[in-house]
Amino acid sequence: MKLQQHEMEELREQLEAQKGDLEEELASHGRILNDAGDWEGSSEGFEGEESDPNDVADQIEELVTNVPLVEELEERHTDVTEALEKMDEGVYGLCEVCNEQISLDRLKANPAARTCIEHAEE
Ligand SMILES: [Zn+2]
Repeated sequence: MKLQQHEMEELREQLEAQKGDLEEELASHGRILNDAGDWEGSSEGFEGEESDPNDVADQIEELVTNVPLVEELEERHTDVTEALEKMDEGVYGLCEVCNEQISLDRLKANPAARTCIEHAEE
């Protein structure tokens, strides 16, 4: 069953809100690498000279936490961005494996879902 216009609008709002949140989180845990929207986990002041050894240890710890975190955030950010692009192209909500319409319940739970329940990886 095809999505209704108002359902689509609701999902778009959710996606845009998620995109904003993810960008905020990315900005606080990482830094943007290029215009293509790639991010990298970072720690503030890591490149500074004359750092106190304790500060350096803290910063390394922060980096160790932030790098995988940023990778995960970036992955979600890509999914959300691609879902919005698909909406613009009119192909939103189709499973990437079987091309069937993903159920509205699933999309409401995760508007950036790429696959139907049968082809979900998680
Ligand atoms: Zn499928």
